[in-house]
Amino acid sequence: MEGNGEFEKVGVNRIKGSGKNFYAVWNEATALLKPEFTDITYQTWISTLEPVAITDDTIYLVTANELQKSTVNRLHISQINAGLKAVTGQEIKAVLLLPNEARELLGELSEQDPALSTGGFVHNPKCTFETFVIGESNRFAYAVAETVANSPGSAYNPLLIYGGVGLGKTHLMHAIGHKVLTNNPGANVLYTTSENFTHELITALQAKENNVHYRTKFRKKYRNVDVLMIDDVQFMANKESTQQEFFYTFEDLKAANKQIIITSDKHPREIPGLEERLSTRFEWGIIADVQPPDMETRMAILRRKAELEGRSIPDDVLFYIAEKVVSNIRELESSLNRIIAYSNINKQDINLAMTERALKDIIPAKKTIVPADIKKVVCEYYGVKPEDLESKRRDTPVVIPRQVAMYLCRELTVLSLAEIGVQFGGKHHTTVLHACEKVEEDMRSSKEFKLTVEDFLKRMR
Ligand code: ADP
Ligand code: MG
Repeated sequence: MEGNGEFEKVGVNRIKGSGKNFYAVWNEATALLKPEFTDITYQTWISTLEPVAITDDTIYLVTANELQKSTVNRLHISQINAGLKAVTGQEIKAVLLLPNEARELLGELSEQDPALSTGGFVHNPKCTFETFVIGESNRFAYAVAETVANSPGSAYNPLLIYGGVGLGKTHLMHAIGHKVLTNNPGANVLYTTSENFTHELITALQAKENNVHYRTKFRKKYRNVDVLMIDDVQFMANKESTQQEFFYTFEDLKAANKQIIITSDKHPREIPGLEERLSTRFEWGIIADVQPPDMETRMAILRRKAELEGRSIPDDVLFYIAEKVVSNIRELESSLNRIIAYSNINKQDINLAMTERALKDIIPAKKTIVPADIKKVVCEYYGVKPEDLESKRRDTPVVIPRQVAMYLCRELTVLSLAEIGVQFGGKHHTTVLHACEKVEEDMRSSKEFKLTVEDFLKRMR
Protein backbone atom coordinates (compact mmCIF):
# COMPACT_ATOMS: atom_id res chain seq x y z
CA MET A 1 0.00 0.00 0.00
CA GLU A 2 1.37 3.37 -0.90
CA GLY A 3 2.10 5.76 1.96
CA ASN A 4 1.41 9.45 2.02
CA GLY A 5 4.82 11.04 1.98
CA GLU A 6 3.55 14.39 0.85
CA PHE A 7 2.35 15.19 4.37
CA GLU A 8 5.58 14.87 6.14
CA LYS A 9 6.66 18.36 5.20
CA VAL A 10 3.79 19.95 7.01
CA GLY A 11 3.84 17.30 9.73
CA VAL A 12 3.26 18.49 13.26
CA ASN A 13 5.96 17.55 15.65
CA ARG A 14 4.22 18.58 18.78
CA ILE A 15 6.03 17.82 21.94
CA LYS A 16 3.54 16.49 24.40
CA GLY A 17 3.59 16.50 28.18
CA SER A 18 5.77 13.41 27.90
CA GLY A 19 8.14 15.26 25.58
CA LYS A 20 7.38 12.89 22.70
CA ASN A 21 6.48 13.90 19.22
CA PHE A 22 3.90 12.14 17.11
CA TYR A 23 6.48 9.94 15.42
CA ALA A 24 7.73 8.67 18.74
CA VAL A 25 4.22 8.15 20.12
CA TRP A 26 3.09 6.24 17.06
CA ASN A 27 6.31 4.20 16.84
CA GLU A 28 5.94 3.13 20.43
CA ALA A 29 2.26 2.39 20.07
CA THR A 30 2.78 0.22 17.00
CA ALA A 31 5.64 -1.64 18.65
CA LEU A 32 3.31 -2.45 21.50
CA LEU A 33 0.38 -3.34 19.25
CA LYS A 34 2.19 -5.44 16.69
CA PRO A 35 2.08 -8.73 18.63
CA GLU A 36 -1.66 -8.33 19.09
CA PHE A 37 -2.39 -8.66 15.39
CA THR A 38 -1.68 -11.39 12.88
CA ASP A 39 1.21 -10.47 10.62
CA ILE A 40 -1.01 -10.03 7.62
CA THR A 41 -3.46 -7.75 9.44
CA TYR A 42 -0.65 -5.69 10.88
CA GLN A 43 1.14 -5.31 7.54
CA THR A 44 -2.01 -4.50 5.60
CA TRP A 45 -3.91 -2.22 7.91
CA ILE A 46 -1.75 -0.90 10.74
CA SER A 47 1.83 -0.48 9.58
CA THR A 48 0.69 1.62 6.64
CA LEU A 49 -1.06 4.22 8.78
CA GLU A 50 0.93 7.41 8.83
CA PRO A 51 0.94 9.80 11.78
CA VAL A 52 0.89 13.44 10.72
CA ALA A 53 -0.13 15.43 13.76
CA ILE A 54 -0.84 15.17 17.43
CA THR A 55 -2.77 17.46 19.74
CA ASP A 56 -3.62 17.14 23.43
CA ASP A 57 -6.19 14.47 22.84
CA THR A 58 -5.89 13.28 19.26
CA ILE A 59 -3.34 11.70 16.99
CA TYR A 60 -4.11 12.01 13.29
CA LEU A 61 -3.33 9.02 11.11
CA VAL A 62 -3.55 9.11 7.37
CA THR A 63 -4.98 6.14 5.53
CA ALA A 64 -4.37 5.31 1.90
CA ASN A 65 -8.02 4.99 0.91
CA GLU A 66 -11.64 4.64 2.01
CA LEU A 67 -11.30 0.89 2.46
CA GLN A 68 -8.43 1.16 4.91
CA LYS A 69 -10.15 3.94 6.79
CA SER A 70 -13.43 2.08 7.24
CA THR A 71 -11.81 -1.26 8.01
CA VAL A 72 -9.53 0.10 10.69
CA ASN A 73 -12.33 2.19 12.16
CA ARG A 74 -14.63 -0.83 12.30
CA LEU A 75 -12.24 -3.50 13.53
CA HIS A 76 -9.13 -2.09 15.14
CA ILE A 77 -9.70 1.39 16.48
CA SER A 78 -10.35 0.46 20.11
CA GLN A 79 -7.18 -1.61 20.23
CA ILE A 80 -5.21 1.26 18.75
CA ASN A 81 -6.64 3.67 21.30
CA ALA A 82 -5.77 1.32 24.13
CA GLY A 83 -2.21 1.13 22.81
CA LEU A 84 -1.97 4.93 22.65
CA LYS A 85 -3.17 5.19 26.21
CA ALA A 86 -0.65 2.61 27.34
CA VAL A 87 2.32 4.42 25.82
CA THR A 88 1.36 7.99 26.67
CA GLY A 89 -0.56 7.55 29.89
CA GLN A 90 -3.06 9.99 28.38
CA GLU A 91 -6.43 9.70 26.70
CA ILE A 92 -5.32 10.11 23.14
CA LYS A 93 -7.70 8.94 20.43
CA ALA A 94 -6.72 8.08 16.90
CA VAL A 95 -8.58 9.88 14.15
CA LEU A 96 -8.26 8.39 10.68
CA LEU A 97 -8.15 10.66 7.69
CA LEU A 98 -8.20 10.30 3.96
CA PRO A 99 -5.36 12.09 2.19
CA ASN A 100 -7.56 15.02 1.15
CA GLU A 101 -9.01 15.34 4.66
CA ALA A 102 -5.51 15.36 6.08
CA ARG A 103 -4.48 18.10 3.74
CA GLU A 104 -7.40 20.24 4.83
CA LEU A 105 -6.92 19.55 8.49
CA LEU A 106 -3.22 20.34 8.46
CA GLY A 107 -3.98 23.60 6.75
CA GLU A 108 -6.40 24.46 9.54
CA LEU A 109 -4.09 23.36 12.29
CA SER A 110 -1.22 25.38 10.93
CA GLU A 111 -3.38 28.47 10.93
CA GLN A 112 -4.17 28.01 14.60
CA ASP A 113 -0.62 27.29 15.52
CA PRO A 114 2.13 28.70 13.35
CA ALA A 115 4.61 26.17 14.66
CA LEU A 116 2.70 23.51 12.74
CA SER A 117 3.87 24.81 9.44
CA THR A 118 7.52 24.92 10.31
CA GLY A 119 8.41 21.40 9.39
CA GLY A 120 7.97 20.17 12.86
CA PHE A 121 9.83 22.33 15.32
CA VAL A 122 7.80 23.22 18.36
CA HIS A 123 10.02 24.98 20.75
CA ASN A 124 9.84 24.80 24.49
CA PRO A 125 8.77 28.34 25.47
CA LYS A 126 10.86 28.15 28.63
CA CYS A 127 14.03 27.79 26.60
CA THR A 128 14.84 31.05 24.88
CA PHE A 129 17.87 33.33 24.86
CA GLU A 130 15.98 35.64 27.21
CA THR A 131 15.62 32.98 29.89
CA PHE A 132 19.22 31.80 29.58
CA VAL A 133 21.42 33.09 32.37
CA ILE A 134 24.89 33.97 31.14
CA GLY A 135 28.03 33.36 33.16
CA GLU A 136 31.68 32.64 32.52
CA SER A 137 30.87 28.98 32.02
CA ASN A 138 28.57 29.49 29.05
CA ARG A 139 29.24 32.99 27.71
CA PHE A 140 31.00 31.80 24.57
CA ALA A 141 28.40 29.13 23.76
CA TYR A 142 25.65 31.70 24.21
CA ALA A 143 27.37 34.20 21.94
CA VAL A 144 27.95 31.78 19.07
CA ALA A 145 24.44 30.35 19.43
CA GLU A 146 23.01 33.82 19.08
CA THR A 147 25.18 34.55 16.05
CA VAL A 148 24.07 31.32 14.39
CA ALA A 149 20.43 32.08 15.16
CA ASN A 150 20.73 35.44 13.45
CA SER A 151 22.50 34.16 10.35
CA PRO A 152 21.79 30.47 9.95
CA GLY A 153 23.90 28.69 7.37
CA SER A 154 26.42 31.47 7.01
CA ALA A 155 28.18 32.25 10.26
CA TYR A 156 29.41 29.02 11.77
CA ASN A 157 28.43 25.78 10.18
CA PRO A 158 28.13 23.34 11.82
CA LEU A 159 27.74 24.59 15.35
CA LEU A 160 28.57 21.99 17.95
CA ILE A 161 27.81 22.58 21.61
CA TYR A 162 29.27 20.12 24.05
CA GLY A 163 29.34 19.70 27.81
CA GLY A 164 28.05 17.67 30.73
CA VAL A 165 24.46 16.77 31.55
CA GLY A 166 22.10 19.55 32.53
CA LEU A 167 24.32 22.45 31.50
CA GLY A 168 22.04 24.09 28.94
CA LYS A 169 22.85 22.45 25.58
CA THR A 170 19.27 21.60 24.69
CA HIS A 171 18.16 24.96 26.05
CA LEU A 172 20.48 26.78 23.64
CA MET A 173 19.32 24.65 20.73
CA HIS A 174 15.71 25.49 21.41
CA ALA A 175 16.62 29.12 21.80
CA ILE A 176 18.23 29.09 18.35
CA GLY A 177 15.19 27.41 16.79
CA HIS A 178 12.89 29.93 18.40
CA LYS A 179 14.99 32.87 17.26
CA VAL A 180 15.31 31.60 13.69
CA LEU A 181 11.53 31.27 13.49
CA THR A 182 10.98 34.68 15.05
CA ASN A 183 13.25 36.24 12.45
CA ASN A 184 11.82 34.17 9.66
CA PRO A 185 8.49 32.44 10.35
CA GLY A 186 8.68 30.50 7.11
CA ALA A 187 11.97 28.77 7.96
CA ASN A 188 11.97 25.01 8.09
CA VAL A 189 13.52 24.10 11.42
CA LEU A 190 13.86 20.49 12.43
CA TYR A 191 14.86 19.42 15.91
CA THR A 192 15.41 15.81 16.77
CA THR A 193 17.50 13.66 19.05
CA SER A 194 20.08 11.32 17.62
CA GLU A 195 18.07 8.47 19.10
CA ASN A 196 14.99 9.50 17.20
CA PHE A 197 17.03 9.93 14.04
CA THR A 198 18.36 6.39 14.47
CA HIS A 199 14.92 5.03 15.20
CA GLU A 200 13.40 6.59 12.11
CA LEU A 201 16.27 5.42 9.99
CA ILE A 202 15.89 1.84 11.19
CA THR A 203 12.18 1.95 10.43
CA ALA A 204 12.98 3.26 6.98
CA LEU A 205 15.63 0.61 6.36
CA GLN A 206 13.42 -2.22 7.54
CA ALA A 207 10.66 -1.11 5.24
CA LYS A 208 13.05 -0.68 2.35
CA GLU A 209 12.71 -4.04 0.69
CA ASN A 210 8.99 -3.93 0.20
CA ASN A 211 8.58 -0.20 0.21
CA VAL A 212 11.26 2.04 -1.19
CA HIS A 213 9.10 4.97 -0.29
CA TYR A 214 10.14 5.04 3.39
CA ARG A 215 13.77 5.61 2.62
CA THR A 216 12.88 8.41 0.25
CA LYS A 217 10.59 9.88 2.83
CA PHE A 218 13.27 9.76 5.48
CA ARG A 219 15.73 11.51 3.20
CA LYS A 220 13.22 14.12 2.20
CA LYS A 221 12.44 14.89 5.78
CA TYR A 222 16.04 15.46 6.82
CA ARG A 223 17.30 17.16 3.73
CA ASN A 224 14.49 19.64 3.12
CA VAL A 225 15.34 21.81 6.07
CA ASP A 226 16.90 25.19 6.66
CA VAL A 227 18.12 24.30 10.12
CA LEU A 228 18.75 20.75 11.31
CA MET A 229 19.31 20.28 15.02
CA ILE A 230 20.44 16.92 16.30
CA ASP A 231 20.63 16.65 20.06
CA ASP A 232 23.03 14.30 21.86
CA VAL A 233 25.00 12.94 18.91
CA GLN A 234 27.11 10.85 21.24
CA PHE A 235 24.34 8.25 21.01
CA MET A 236 25.31 7.68 17.38
CA ALA A 237 28.54 6.11 18.61
CA ASN A 238 29.08 2.65 17.16
CA LYS A 239 25.94 2.88 15.05
CA GLU A 240 27.37 2.44 11.63
CA SER A 241 24.37 2.93 9.40
CA THR A 242 23.16 5.91 11.41
CA GLN A 243 26.52 7.59 11.10
CA GLN A 244 26.64 6.86 7.41
CA GLU A 245 23.20 8.32 6.80
CA PHE A 246 23.99 11.31 8.94
CA PHE A 247 27.22 11.82 7.04
CA TYR A 248 25.34 12.07 3.73
CA THR A 249 22.71 14.31 5.27
CA PHE A 250 25.47 16.50 6.61
CA GLU A 251 27.22 16.72 3.26
CA ASP A 252 23.99 17.63 1.50
CA LEU A 253 22.95 20.32 3.95
CA LYS A 254 26.40 21.81 4.24
CA ALA A 255 26.73 22.03 0.46
CA ALA A 256 23.40 23.83 0.32
CA ASN A 257 24.45 26.24 3.11
CA LYS A 258 21.82 24.92 5.45
CA GLN A 259 22.59 25.24 9.13
CA ILE A 260 23.51 22.16 11.13
CA ILE A 261 23.55 22.28 14.91
CA ILE A 262 24.57 19.39 17.08
CA THR A 263 25.14 18.78 20.75
CA SER A 264 27.18 16.17 22.48
CA ASP A 265 28.25 15.32 26.01
CA LYS A 266 31.92 15.28 24.93
CA HIS A 267 34.28 16.85 22.46
CA PRO A 268 33.74 15.01 19.14
CA ARG A 269 37.26 13.58 19.19
CA GLU A 270 36.48 12.01 22.54
CA ILE A 271 33.33 10.21 21.46
CA PRO A 272 34.39 6.59 21.20
CA GLY A 273 33.04 4.82 18.15
CA LEU A 274 32.42 7.99 16.16
CA GLU A 275 33.76 7.80 12.62
CA GLU A 276 36.61 10.12 11.93
CA ARG A 277 35.02 11.64 8.85
CA LEU A 278 32.19 12.81 11.13
CA SER A 279 34.33 14.07 13.98
CA THR A 280 36.50 16.05 11.57
CA ARG A 281 33.44 17.56 9.93
CA PHE A 282 32.07 18.55 13.33
CA GLU A 283 35.18 20.66 13.71
CA TRP A 284 34.69 22.49 10.43
CA GLY A 285 32.45 25.12 11.92
CA ILE A 286 32.69 26.07 15.53
CA ILE A 287 32.80 24.13 18.74
CA ALA A 288 31.60 25.72 21.95
CA ASP A 289 31.56 24.09 25.34
CA VAL A 290 29.33 24.67 28.33
CA GLN A 291 31.01 24.21 31.68
CA PRO A 292 29.50 23.76 35.14
CA PRO A 293 28.39 27.20 36.36
CA ASP A 294 30.38 29.04 39.00
CA MET A 295 28.83 30.10 42.31
CA GLU A 296 27.77 33.49 41.03
CA THR A 297 26.03 32.02 37.99
CA ARG A 298 24.32 29.38 40.11
CA MET A 299 22.95 32.14 42.35
CA ALA A 300 21.81 34.10 39.31
CA ILE A 301 20.04 31.06 37.87
CA LEU A 302 18.27 30.41 41.16
CA ARG A 303 17.22 34.05 41.49
CA ARG A 304 15.88 34.08 37.95
CA LYS A 305 14.01 30.87 38.49
CA ALA A 306 12.49 32.10 41.78
CA GLU A 307 11.42 35.25 39.97
CA LEU A 308 9.80 33.24 37.19
CA GLU A 309 7.91 31.27 39.82
CA GLY A 310 6.84 34.52 41.43
CA ARG A 311 8.36 33.58 44.78
CA SER A 312 10.60 35.60 46.96
CA ILE A 313 13.11 33.27 48.52
CA PRO A 314 15.61 34.35 51.18
CA ASP A 315 19.18 34.69 50.03
CA ASP A 316 20.56 32.26 52.60
CA VAL A 317 18.31 29.58 51.13
CA LEU A 318 19.46 30.29 47.59
CA PHE A 319 23.03 30.34 48.82
CA TYR A 320 22.60 26.99 50.54
CA ILE A 321 21.33 25.38 47.35
CA ALA A 322 23.93 27.04 45.14
CA GLU A 323 26.67 25.86 47.43
CA LYS A 324 25.54 22.26 47.48
CA VAL A 325 24.34 21.67 43.94
CA VAL A 326 27.30 22.50 41.80
CA SER A 327 27.45 20.58 38.59
CA ASN A 328 24.02 20.37 37.02
CA ILE A 329 21.57 23.18 36.33
CA ARG A 330 18.66 20.80 36.03
CA GLU A 331 19.32 19.64 39.60
CA LEU A 332 19.62 23.22 40.71
CA GLU A 333 16.16 23.86 39.31
CA SER A 334 14.65 20.72 40.74
CA SER A 335 16.02 21.52 44.19
CA LEU A 336 14.29 24.86 44.05
CA ASN A 337 11.07 23.29 42.77
CA ARG A 338 11.20 20.87 45.61
CA ILE A 339 11.39 23.47 48.36
CA ILE A 340 8.62 25.45 46.70
CA ALA A 341 6.44 22.34 46.64
CA TYR A 342 7.41 21.54 50.22
CA SER A 343 6.44 25.01 51.36
CA ASN A 344 3.11 24.83 49.52
CA ILE A 345 2.23 21.46 50.99
CA ASN A 346 3.19 22.41 54.53
CA LYS A 347 1.80 25.93 54.18
CA GLN A 348 5.05 27.20 55.58
CA ASP A 349 7.32 30.03 54.49
CA ILE A 350 10.59 29.05 52.91
CA ASN A 351 13.50 29.26 55.30
CA LEU A 352 16.84 27.59 55.72
CA ALA A 353 15.79 24.94 58.22
CA MET A 354 12.92 23.90 56.02
CA THR A 355 15.21 23.82 53.00
CA GLU A 356 17.65 21.50 54.73
CA ARG A 357 14.80 19.16 55.58
CA ALA A 358 13.26 19.30 52.13
CA LEU A 359 16.54 18.59 50.42
CA LYS A 360 18.05 16.06 52.74
CA ASP A 361 17.63 13.16 50.30
CA ILE A 362 19.01 15.17 47.42
CA ILE A 363 21.93 16.81 49.15
CA PRO A 364 23.74 14.15 51.10
CA ALA A 365 25.12 15.07 54.51
CA LYS A 366 28.81 15.78 54.33
CA LYS A 367 30.76 12.55 54.54
CA THR A 368 32.81 12.59 57.70
CA ILE A 369 36.49 12.14 57.15
CA VAL A 370 38.23 9.65 59.44
CA PRO A 371 41.99 9.36 60.13
CA ALA A 372 42.21 6.17 58.06
CA ASP A 373 41.12 8.13 54.94
CA ILE A 374 43.78 10.72 55.59
CA LYS A 375 46.51 8.16 56.20
CA LYS A 376 45.61 6.36 53.00
CA VAL A 377 45.88 9.47 50.83
CA VAL A 378 49.09 10.67 52.48
CA CYS A 379 50.75 7.25 52.30
CA GLU A 380 49.90 6.91 48.64
CA TYR A 381 51.45 10.26 47.92
CA TYR A 382 54.68 9.74 49.88
CA GLY A 383 55.00 6.03 49.17
CA VAL A 384 55.02 4.91 52.80
CA LYS A 385 52.81 2.48 54.76
CA PRO A 386 50.21 3.41 57.40
CA GLU A 387 52.20 1.31 59.90
CA ASP A 388 55.17 3.61 59.30
CA LEU A 389 53.09 6.60 60.38
CA GLU A 390 52.16 4.77 63.56
CA SER A 391 55.74 3.62 64.25
CA LYS A 392 58.41 5.38 66.29
CA ARG A 393 60.68 5.93 63.27
CA ARG A 394 62.25 9.39 63.23
CA ASP A 395 63.79 9.43 59.73
CA THR A 396 62.70 12.16 57.32
CA PRO A 397 60.89 9.91 54.77
CA VAL A 398 58.48 8.94 57.54
CA VAL A 399 58.49 12.05 59.71
CA ILE A 400 57.21 14.41 57.04
CA PRO A 401 54.22 12.33 55.94
CA ARG A 402 53.38 11.66 59.60
CA GLN A 403 53.40 15.37 60.39
CA VAL A 404 51.30 16.14 57.33
CA ALA A 405 48.81 13.44 58.23
CA MET A 406 48.53 14.78 61.80
CA TYR A 407 48.01 18.28 60.48
CA LEU A 408 45.28 17.08 58.12
CA CYS A 409 43.58 15.25 60.97
CA ARG A 410 43.47 18.47 62.93
CA GLU A 411 42.09 20.39 59.96
CA LEU A 412 39.63 17.83 58.68
CA THR A 413 38.32 15.89 61.69
CA VAL A 414 36.77 16.82 65.01
CA LEU A 415 39.37 14.86 66.97
CA SER A 416 41.34 16.51 69.77
CA LEU A 417 45.16 16.58 69.70
CA ALA A 418 45.24 13.72 72.21
CA GLU A 419 42.83 11.66 70.14
CA ILE A 420 44.90 12.29 67.04
CA GLY A 421 47.97 11.10 68.95
CA VAL A 422 46.20 7.81 69.66
CA GLN A 423 45.69 7.33 65.92
CA PHE A 424 49.42 7.55 65.36
CA GLY A 425 50.65 4.80 67.64
CA GLY A 426 49.88 6.58 70.92
CA LYS A 427 51.91 9.78 70.46
CA HIS A 428 51.69 12.50 73.08
CA HIS A 429 49.41 15.46 72.33
CA THR A 430 52.35 17.85 72.38
CA THR A 431 53.97 15.80 69.61
CA VAL A 432 50.83 16.33 67.53
CA LEU A 433 50.85 20.03 68.29
CA HIS A 434 54.49 20.27 67.34
CA ALA A 435 53.77 18.44 64.06
CA CYS A 436 50.99 20.87 63.19
CA GLU A 437 53.18 23.86 63.93
CA LYS A 438 56.02 22.42 61.89
CA VAL A 439 53.72 21.90 58.89
CA GLU A 440 52.45 25.46 59.12
CA GLU A 441 55.97 26.78 59.29
CA ASP A 442 57.08 24.73 56.29
CA MET A 443 54.05 25.91 54.33
CA ARG A 444 55.18 29.46 54.91
CA SER A 445 58.74 28.80 53.79
CA SER A 446 58.08 26.50 50.82
CA LYS A 447 55.57 27.35 48.17
CA GLU A 448 55.70 23.88 46.75
CA PHE A 449 55.03 22.25 50.09
CA LYS A 450 52.16 24.66 50.66
CA LEU A 451 50.58 23.65 47.35
CA THR A 452 50.94 19.98 48.22
CA VAL A 453 49.20 20.38 51.55
CA GLU A 454 46.47 22.58 50.10
CA ASP A 455 45.91 20.02 47.42
CA PHE A 456 45.41 17.34 50.08
CA LEU A 457 42.88 19.55 51.85
CA LYS A 458 41.03 20.28 48.66
CA ARG A 459 40.90 16.68 47.55
CA MET A 460 39.74 15.37 50.88
CA ARG A 461 37.08 18.01 51.32
P1 ADP B 1 21.58 19.65 28.67
O1 ADP B 1 20.89 19.56 27.35
O2 ADP B 1 22.94 20.27 28.58
O3 ADP B 1 21.62 18.34 29.41
P2 ADP B 1 19.38 21.39 29.33
O4 ADP B 1 19.52 22.37 28.24
O5 ADP B 1 18.29 20.40 29.21
O6 ADP B 1 20.76 20.63 29.60
O7 ADP B 1 19.26 22.20 30.70
C1 ADP B 1 18.75 21.63 31.89
C2 ADP B 1 17.83 22.61 32.57
O8 ADP B 1 18.56 23.70 33.05
C3 ADP B 1 16.77 23.17 31.63
O9 ADP B 1 15.56 23.32 32.35
C4 ADP B 1 17.33 24.52 31.22
O10 ADP B 1 16.31 25.43 30.92
C5 ADP B 1 18.10 24.93 32.46
N1 ADP B 1 19.28 25.74 32.15
C6 ADP B 1 20.46 25.28 31.68
N2 ADP B 1 21.33 26.29 31.51
C7 ADP B 1 20.69 27.42 31.89
C8 ADP B 1 21.05 28.80 31.96
N3 ADP B 1 22.28 29.22 31.62
N4 ADP B 1 20.12 29.67 32.40
C9 ADP B 1 18.90 29.26 32.76
N5 ADP B 1 18.49 27.98 32.74
C10 ADP B 1 19.36 27.06 32.31
MG1 MG C 1 20.03 17.92 26.43
